[in-house]
Amino acid sequence: MTSHNRKSGGVNDAPEPESAYTKIAYDPLDTRHYGAVSMPVYQNSLFAFESYAQFEQAIQDENGQFHVYSRGNNPTVEYLERKLAELEGGERAKCFGSGMAAISAAVLSVVGQGDHILCSNQAYGPAREFMGNYLKRFGVETTFVDGSSPEAWKAEARPNTKLLYLESPTSLQFELQDLAAVGAFAKSIGAVTIIDNTWATPVYQQPLRLGIDLVVHSITKYISGHSDCVGGVVIGPNRLMESLIRSEYMLLGGIMTAQTAATVMRGLRTLPLRMERHQSSGLKVARHLSGRPYVRQVNHPGLPEHPQHELALRQMSGFGSLFSIQSDEPLDKLKEWATRLRYFKIGVSWGGFESLVTVHRLPVRSGEMRNFVRFFVGLENPDDLIRDLDDAWASLQDE
Ligand SMILES: *Cc1c(COP(=O)(O)O)cnc(C)c1O
Repeated sequence: MTSHNRKSGGVNDAPEPESAYTKIAYDPLDTRHYGAVSMPVYQNSLFAFESYAQFEQAIQDENGQFHVYSRGNNPTVEYLERKLAELEGGERAKCFGSGMAAISAAVLSVVGQGDHILCSNQAYGPAREFMGNYLKRFGVETTFVDGSSPEAWKAEARPNTKLLYLESPTSLQFELQDLAAVGAFAKSIGAVTIIDNTWATPVYQQPLRLGIDLVVHSITKYISGHSDCVGGVVIGPNRLMESLIRSEYMLLGGIMTAQTAATVMRGLRTLPLRMERHQSSGLKVARHLSGRPYVRQVNHPGLPEHPQHELALRQMSGFGSLFSIQSDEPLDKLKEWATRLRYFKIGVSWGGFESLVTVHRLPVRSGEMRNFVRFFVGLENPDDLIRDLDDAWASLQDE
């Protein structure tokens, strides 16, 4: 924003707003928007100019100061990008039409033919599919590593390793990667790191401050927070973002619309507030489940029994409310349990107001297959959710 209407009286001397709460709530007034307290929806594809000279100047700096075309730089989307960059502590953010559009653009901005990727073996499924399978046809090879071990990343690195792709915590088994250690190793071999930070949100984890190069989010989840839009974002330093914006953003064209950006912005206003509630409710439900006889193990980085709880406390300042349990009960029984839950809906995705449940069969570290139930704890009263889980489980025993 170029011209700010400062409130009178020493506002220029005020310290930078610090907490996520303040960053999200506080906007300087921008006279271009008539002092509107929320960003208007710029529902236009193109921007027109008064002179040819202005037009040519704008085209020179289309993704900087000027607005030319909404596939490049729409003011409503740009406003959301500035907020997200500020929250992550990054120089630049670019929003995309989905989390996968952001992830694929970020990966493509780093690798080319003949390059090698190291990817956490528990990263989001479609991200693994993109790197491990799709990119093969362009001569990019991917090795999947046990991301929880910094040694495993080192052991699998090759001279042509260009990218280390992390997701911490992972979103089915909730394993962490040591961001500072993996980031430092990547720097030592001249590789770039990308992390999927969707679970913790910038409110609870800021990987750029720990030495990671690029952060991606599925905005679809907590950031928008109301299960009413799909979006993604890449955040990082100008040195990496500039070419990503010029190439993968402009050429693949997977943009976010102004309408979506305005909807996301409305959700973002309450992100820290919602995260506090998700954190406390998620921990309460997880603690309750950790005492149940049908639960073999609860996978929640916020519980002291999580094998990486210490690391979690070191690199995150709070916890999301998506977690899983491992159970020795039969898969069909777990699915029937899910069916009988009242407040937990059966469905993919997460991060909205509503609690969700899915059932999975996944390999664990030893290679054995185990049964998992993944819960997303929404904004309902956690005691209602606990009663729901207990009642539905008890009803299965009566038969
Ligand atoms: C949902 C999700 C994605 C993909 O985001 P979309 O918006 O669905 O494309 C990526 N990473 C994680 C961890 C997710 O949960």
